[in-house]
Amino acid sequence: MKADLDLDIGRKTFSSGLLPELIAVLRRVRPGDLVAVVGDEESVGPELETWCRFTGNTLLETTVANGRSRWVFRCGTVPVSPLDNRPVGTRLWLYTNFHCNLCCDYCCVRSSPTAPRRELGLDRVQRIAREAAELGVKEIFVTGGEPFLLENVGEVLASCAATAPTTVLTNAMLFTGRRAESLQTLPRDRIVLQISLDSATPELHDLHRGPGSWARTLEGIQKAREQGFRVRLAATVSTDAEAEEFRQFLDEEKIAAEDRVIRRIALRGSAATGLAVSRADLVPEVTITADGVYWHPVGAADADLLVTRDIFPLSEAFAAVRRAFEREGEHTHKLARIFNCA
Ligand code: SF4
Repeated sequence: MKADLDLDIGRKTFSSGLLPELIAVLRRVRPGDLVAVVGDEESVGPELETWCRFTGNTLLETTVANGRSRWVFRCGTVPVSPLDNRPVGTRLWLYTNFHCNLCCDYCCVRSSPTAPRRELGLDRVQRIAREAAELGVKEIFVTGGEPFLLENVGEVLASCAATAPTTVLTNAMLFTGRRAESLQTLPRDRIVLQISLDSATPELHDLHRGPGSWARTLEGIQKAREQGFRVRLAATVSTDAEAEEFRQFLDEEKIAAEDRVIRRIALRGSAATGLAVSRADLVPEVTITADGVYWHPVGAADADLLVTRDIFPLSEAFAAVRRAFEREGEHTHKLARIFNCA
């Protein structure tokens, strides 16, 4: 993980002068900056973590290379809007697959045409949907990768929609042939298409997502609307200025507030820059992939957000996420916020 400031502490520890160095660093950085501390004493790690919790900073990563330890912490809280809390388990995310027709430079799970597919599979989706019905799930979100690469995407979505209102996240570039036919069979009153569109004009969108993608996504949006689907537009942006520009576009297009998502690039997956978020920053939203149950969709391929490899019984997977959240809550300086992916 790239840092804004690097601090080499050599053999220093908290009992031999590290604290004044950290205080000096905090005077030089801005909230949200990442600081990398590199040292020769691995034992500093637990104390550094305690110090981070005590001072309201967040330890994001620990690595060891060539006998030296490197810890990256973020200064201060995550600058995202605190929204109303959602009880854990009301939202359920399914990563149906990890391959994608695009290769966006900020993809939080490193999807691409060559990424291993890691498909959840229709049988598992159907079992999850059945068990979710008993667990008070209010919304299901289907994402990937690109779900419309799946031949049976129609059946996958229909199974989910039978349990709860379902949103499918898509780049809308594959609504042709058999995929378009799948769309036609889906219940319009139970399924929302959340379509990724990063900017009002092609430049920025294509810069991150590839040449020509903006125009094809716009065609997809048009098709989805013509078929009577509710479409939610979701932008991933780098700056407040980009967010504001997109907001103006949505105003001009008269897009309702509930059909807009504007979120910052998260420093996960393929992203080289973005908002660094750790488990402690995120209110969990149970997220299931072929590899197991994760804390939140924004890091559904990252070991630090894996809760358990066991998906079934689903009630136990939900309980595991709740227990993990309670454990996080025991750290009184925890600052979990909702990071809206939908
Ligand atoms: S961000 Fe979405 S569209 Fe882009 S590579 Fe990742 S999954 Fe595919």
